[in-house]
Amino acid sequence: MDMNNINLATFEPGSVWLVGSGPGDPGLLTLLAVQGLQQADVIVYDALVNDSILKLARPDCALEYAGKRGGRPSARQKDISLRLVELAQQGKRVLRLKGGDPFVFGRGGEEGLSLVEHSVAFRVVPGITAGIGGLAYAGIPVTHREVNQSVTFVTGHDSSGALPGAINWSALAQGSQVLVLYMAIKHLAGITEKLMAHGRAADEPVAVITNASLPDQTVLETTLGQAAEAVRRRGMQPPALVVVGGVVPLRAALDWHGALRDKVLTADPLGTRRLTDSA
Ligand code: SAH
Repeated sequence: MDMNNINLATFEPGSVWLVGSGPGDPGLLTLLAVQGLQQADVIVYDALVNDSILKLARPDCALEYAGKRGGRPSARQKDISLRLVELAQQGKRVLRLKGGDPFVFGRGGEEGLSLVEHSVAFRVVPGITAGIGGLAYAGIPVTHREVNQSVTFVTGHDSSGALPGAINWSALAQGSQVLVLYMAIKHLAGITEKLMAHGRAADEPVAVITNASLPDQTVLETTLGQAAEAVRRRGMQPPALVVVGGVVPLRAALDWHGALRDKVLTADPLGTRRLTDSA
């Protein structure tokens, strides 16, 4: 790929790029992310970054694992932020590589604040967030005109690992047609109970997607009432996304990924054509 004809930003020594790597499939990287990976002196990467993406780095690039999964105490986050400052102050091109998008449940903002505090120049390279791109790999559009005019992204736990106390469950349950839950496996029983207690129907469609866009992607279609038990029974593990709402059944038609593996798609998943015919 010749990127010389495109005017991409220059990676200045002594600066930090906060880069999103997308949900996993290396094909979902942006050109800017690829350019950054090829120019970086050091890459500080997260647990959710795919190995094949790291292979795009220069052979002499230093790789530092900042292995952090959600729910760890924030002290470690501070260490990572300070490490970025330290490396930049040594004059390195520092690439901070994160799963999905750095500013979506990715603590990119916290790291950016620390860089500003220490007067380190930085750039943010957005990535495809798992809650959009990962759903697309499961054949689920986050919005569909006939189904929803809103979508809400929710985290299933806060920085202490607990169910987020600041969420107004009643407003969430009643106000958002489609919910996309990140980091929701641990507290799935509690979350689904709260949503039903505040008015969501037990038979509302739910999909749980693990390892979205990766070769071992799995998708479970279930209902709000049965999701927690179904996930437990199958032993589904993070990273996973949980989607609640009327866009889930569109998968019957739009699961292009499954169709590549011989799944037969249904042309009219919502039965709308029939409704219109009889009207
Ligand atoms: N910044 C990331 C989110 C980081 S939080 C983004 O924008 O996507 C980590 C959570 O993201 C995981 O617990 C899971 O809920 C979700 N996630 C990230 N990659 C995923 C993948 N490939 N498949 C399923 N879920 C994923």
